[in-house]
Amino acid sequence: MIDFKQLAQKYKTPLYIYDLDHMTAQYTELKDAFKARKSILCYAVKANSNLSVVRHFAKMGSGADCVSIGEVRRAFLAGIPSYKIIFSGVGKNDDEIREAIEKDILYINVESEAELGRVELIAKDLDKKTRISIRVNPNIDPKTHPYISTGLHDNKFGVDLSTAKRMYIFANNSEHLDPVGIHFHIGSQLTELKPIYESAEIVADLVRSLQTIKIELKFFDVGGGLGIKYDDETLIPTYEYAQAILATLKGLDLTVICEPGRFLTANAGYFISKVLYEKQNGEKNFLVIDGAMNDLLRPALYSAYHKIEAVTDSTSSLKKVDIVGPVCESGDFFAKDYLLPNLAHNDLVVVHSAGAYGFGMGSNYNTRGRSAEVALESGEDRLIRKRETFDDLIALEKEFLN
Ligand SMILES: *Cc1c(COP(=O)(O)O)cnc(C)c1O
Repeated sequence: MIDFKQLAQKYKTPLYIYDLDHMTAQYTELKDAFKARKSILCYAVKANSNLSVVRHFAKMGSGADCVSIGEVRRAFLAGIPSYKIIFSGVGKNDDEIREAIEKDILYINVESEAELGRVELIAKDLDKKTRISIRVNPNIDPKTHPYISTGLHDNKFGVDLSTAKRMYIFANNSEHLDPVGIHFHIGSQLTELKPIYESAEIVADLVRSLQTIKIELKFFDVGGGLGIKYDDETLIPTYEYAQAILATLKGLDLTVICEPGRFLTANAGYFISKVLYEKQNGEKNFLVIDGAMNDLLRPALYSAYHKIEAVTDSTSSLKKVDIVGPVCESGDFFAKDYLLPNLAHNDLVVVHSAGAYGFGMGSNYNTRGRSAEVALESGEDRLIRKRETFDDLIALEKEFLN
C-alpha cells in the first residue's frame, strides 16, 4: 500500500509517483515471454522519459526506442549502451540523423524513401556505413483509438510493402547503408492480438522475400503497443503475444526487438492532487483540484479514462462529480460524472495509470510549473525531478525583457 498522504505532505502536490518495482515486474514478464528467441526490449522512452526511470530500465538490460535526438541523449545519459538504442520517428532532421550516425546506435528506423536518401547522404558525408531498419506500414487496423493508431495507410507512419522492398534494394546497394532490421508499430493500447499477428506475418513474409534476393536482415522489430488495464479492458496475455509473433518467424534467424512503453510504466504511475473546492453549477457538481491538463493531458486529448481514488476520512455517500483543474479551458478535466464521496479542502485524489504519457505530455500552459516526480523502490521514496519554480519558467525569457 502506498502512503499517498505521507508522500503528499513530504513532496507537496500535484505530484507524480512511480513504483519502480512494478516496472521491474512488467519488464521481467515481457522479457520472459520472448525467451524462446534472442530478444531485446527497447523501452519506448517517450512513455516516461525521466532519467531515473530510463536508468532503472538500463540496469535491467533494456535498450531504448527513441523518437528524437533528445531521447537518444537521455538514453545515453541513463546508461543504455549504444548497441541497444534505436532511433525512430517520422520526421528526423539532418542534425538528428548526423548525431545518431556519429553515436553508432543499433539502427535508425527509416520511415520514408526521402528520409533514406538523407540518411545515406549524411552517412556518406561522415564517411560511414550506418545501420538502418525500415518501418513498414502493414495497413492493418489495430482497433484502438484513432489518435494512437499508426498502422494504416491513412496514418503518416512507415511505408507500404512495395516501397519498403525498393528501399531495401537501394540500401543494400549503397556503400553507406547497412539494412539490418525491419520494423512495424501499428498502434498503442492494443488489446487485440489478431492485428498484431497479421502484421507480423506480413512483415515476416517480406523478410523471406528479401532473403530470396540475398538481403539478410538480423532484427525483427515488432514495435510496442501492448495495452494495459485503465478500466475493465481484457488484455492480451504477454505469453500469447510473444508466441504469436514468434510463430510468424519459423525458419528465420532473427533477433526480436520489442519497444514497449505504456506496458512497462503506465500502471506504475500515480498522479496525486489536492482538492481545492467543490462547487455546483445548476445540476452539475464540480471538484476543483490543484492538478490540471498541463500535468496530465490524456483525458483532454483522447477523452482517456483514468481510475480516480479519493483519499479521505469522509464517509458520505457517493455522488457524481466532474473532476477538473484550474486551467482556463473546458477541456481541463480528469473525469466526468465520476462517483466520489463528499471531499474537503486538502483531501487527496489519486489518478491511477499515470506512469505513461503523463508527465512527458505536460506543459507550462497557464504559467504552471510542472509537478515533481518521485520514485518508490523497495519501500523507499526519493525525488527524481524537482518541482518547477516560477524562475525556471521564465529563465529563457527574462534576459529579453527591456
Ligand atoms: C510510441 C511508440 C512505441 C511505444 O508505444 P506503447 O504503446 O507505449 O507501447 C513503440 N515504438 C514506436 C515506434 C513508438 O512510436
